[in-house]
Amino acid sequence: MSIMFRPPVAAVRVIGWRQVLGFAQGSDPFWEQVRAAQLRILNRNVPFNIVVLGLNVVAVMIVLRDVGDASFLFGWGGSLAVLLALRLAGWRTRRVAAANAIVGIGVFWRVSVEMVAYGMFWAALMLHLLPRSPVEIQALLMLMSLVAMGACAFAAAITPAAGTLLVLTIAAGSFGLPAASPLANWAVVIGLLSFVLLTMRGMMVICRGLMVRMATEADSAEQGAVIRLLLSEFESHGSDWLFEVDAEGAVTRVSPRFVEVAGLPYDAIVGAPMLSLLGDDRRGRESRDAVRQLNAHFLNRQSFRDLVIPVPAGETTRWWQLSGTPKYDGAGSFTGYRGVGSDVTDARLAEEHIVRLARFDSLTGLPNRRGIRDRIGEALRTARRTDGECAVLFVDLDRFKLVNDSLGHRTGDLLLCEVASRLRDTLGDAAEIGRLGGDEFAVVLPVSDERAAERAARVIVAALAQPFAVDGHPISIGASVGFALGPVDGASVDLLLRSADLALYEVKGNGRSHACRFVPAIQVKAEERRALEFDLRGALDRGELALAFQPVVEASDERVVGFEALLRWQHPKLGLVPPLKFIPIAEETGLIHVIGRWVIEEACRWAARWPNDVRIAVNLSPVQFDNVELAAIVEAALADNGIDADRLELEITESLFLNEKPATIAMLASLKALGIRFALDDFGTGYSSLGYLQKAEFSRIKIDRSFVARATLDNGESVAIIRAIVGLAGNLGMLTTAEGTETRAEFEVIRDLGCDHVQGYLFGRPMSPEAATALVRVVPVPRLVLVR
Ligand code: C2E
Ligand code: MG
Ligand code: MG
Repeated sequence: MSIMFRPPVAAVRVIGWRQVLGFAQGSDPFWEQVRAAQLRILNRNVPFNIVVLGLNVVAVMIVLRDVGDASFLFGWGGSLAVLLALRLAGWRTRRVAAANAIVGIGVFWRVSVEMVAYGMFWAALMLHLLPRSPVEIQALLMLMSLVAMGACAFAAAITPAAGTLLVLTIAAGSFGLPAASPLANWAVVIGLLSFVLLTMRGMMVICRGLMVRMATEADSAEQGAVIRLLLSEFESHGSDWLFEVDAEGAVTRVSPRFVEVAGLPYDAIVGAPMLSLLGDDRRGRESRDAVRQLNAHFLNRQSFRDLVIPVPAGETTRWWQLSGTPKYDGAGSFTGYRGVGSDVTDARLAEEHIVRLARFDSLTGLPNRRGIRDRIGEALRTARRTDGECAVLFVDLDRFKLVNDSLGHRTGDLLLCEVASRLRDTLGDAAEIGRLGGDEFAVVLPVSDERAAERAARVIVAALAQPFAVDGHPISIGASVGFALGPVDGASVDLLLRSADLALYEVKGNGRSHACRFVPAIQVKAEERRALEFDLRGALDRGELALAFQPVVEASDERVVGFEALLRWQHPKLGLVPPLKFIPIAEETGLIHVIGRWVIEEACRWAARWPNDVRIAVNLSPVQFDNVELAAIVEAALADNGIDADRLELEITESLFLNEKPATIAMLASLKALGIRFALDDFGTGYSSLGYLQKAEFSRIKIDRSFVARATLDNGESVAIIRAIVGLAGNLGMLTTAEGTETRAEFEVIRDLGCDHVQGYLFGRPMSPEAATALVRVVPVPRLVLVR
């Protein structure tokens, strides 16, 4: 690798004639220091200059006492003497002030004005005396003017702007006279101009010399500070070695430790380009990036600190941490870098180990969510580069929770490991398998297409449907798989994960144990759901929820014996939203607790207006059993409305027992203790396990509408099932209700099969509370009083 260094550049600070004269200096600390130094030098000579000037003034006054009027001369000399005395008096204070002050450019120009004032004193003397003097005195005066100009230039050389103004003012006053002026002689003009130019240039050179020296001193102070910093870092951070490179990037000096860790002879290192010692293109992206970064610092002449670089060391890689700072020579030219370095390989390996741990699941040894995200990222990049596709499959174990709850977490953990190895065995090396957490796994197929992904998904479902043997327990779980293809179903890691997750959600919503690919419609559905969820949050407060009551009639005489409370949501924009759509959302979000409580209270409030022999049935979600206050809520609703507990029937479905917890059974017992009855809703649609019937000591079985609907249609299978359920219920001392009876024919079949109660559109659709109340209102019958 070649090192691209720029040719050396000039010193950073510009010190041209403008800066020397006091323009374009800026207000940075450097220029403040320069101005302070100028004033200090100027001030230092003030007493000496004033004494010399005073002597000259006295001499001039003695010589010229006969020329012109004495009053002018004494006025002139007197006021100059006062001015000089004042200046001398203020000298000490000014000196102290200049030593400490931050000298702005304003101070500087005030000094210049002061100088011009002195110049004008001299000019005034000349203008007054010259026309009145004889020629030999004129020549003497001019000579003295020249001496004055030279002396002033020396005295004010350190402030060229002020010095120049002073010299020009004296020159203008002394040589500007037209008639008697010696300027009539061109040789004198040239001599005078040369004198002025030479003094000006002399002042500029002296002043610039000071400025350049100060700039160099400032730079070397800066470099010294950097070097001190590097050395202290070297000592305190346990750096291993020092190095130096020249302006071309070639190593000029290294300490012995550098030679040792580089594993190269000293001669091979010195003279070699530094960057070529550090890495080469074959070392991968990290090495390339680090070397590029270092090169960028070199190019911009920037200091760098703690730059970690992988360095080839034979077959292995060592990691070096480097800090460096650019070097400049006295003239401000870049001369290379000086820095320190240390070998941080051990720390780096430990760090990598921690990173690895953070990316792997400790139980199964599979990549965890972070690890899988990295792999999806890589797969997406490859797919984009090759114009191909990759697939992400989300695998969710169907009955894992049951295993965990019933057989314990240890068995659960072993089962997860078994699942991991079965997935690995089934899918082979082409797939990357990870565990996202809990019972969720993810599979990444870096190179795939719709057919391959679907095949893999089906293979996974089939493989995990096979029973497991864990700790001597035969376990059947099954799995659902949702998958998505990148980049079509998601162009970023997050989008692709979300699509696969939505597809899985869809599978779980549709009864689990199969696979489904993400399609945009799923997302639309999910968005609708999210919107619905948002609206549902405020629905109760906005009064959008209401109860409808559907009558339940006695099969024998068709008398209304009760009502089932059914929840209704009148959405302001969507109209009536069916409970089957919003109740699952309420269950998932936990909103069902508030809503369910309201249903119980509202149902009891209406039941209080009905005759005592009319029952009220309320549906309960399994989720509501998680609320420890459920029994208290029911008890309070009964008490507040003065309703006997046996008028209330709580309808629950078998799903309550699927993820049954000990707390569920306890809650059932507490409710039962209140004297409440339970009905098993939708019987025949789920597992229809007879075991469930005993768990809650049900008073009633509600035969699902699907059997009732088929009772008059099919070849007698439904009739047989209804007959069996009715027989079973009779033997267990339970009542039966046939749900969804729509026609008289259905009703007659059901009644003849021995169902106790019937519910369905035939006897009444779910109706408003007022309509239900009207249906059962007791019309008072006038009592006949028999008079004997
Ligand atoms: P479910 O408890 O089985 O309620 C009976 C469902 O069948 C009601 O549907 C009712 O309107 C409908 N239905 C009654 N007779 C007939 C008929 O003759 N023909 C037909 N086709 N359908 C009939 P709905 O109101 O849509 O409720 C659906 C389900 O939503 C309920 O099934 C229940 O599981 C649930 N649900 C309703 N209200 C609540 C509630 O307050 N809390 C809970 N947790 N779930 C509720
Ligand atoms: Mg029901
Ligand atoms: Mg039902």
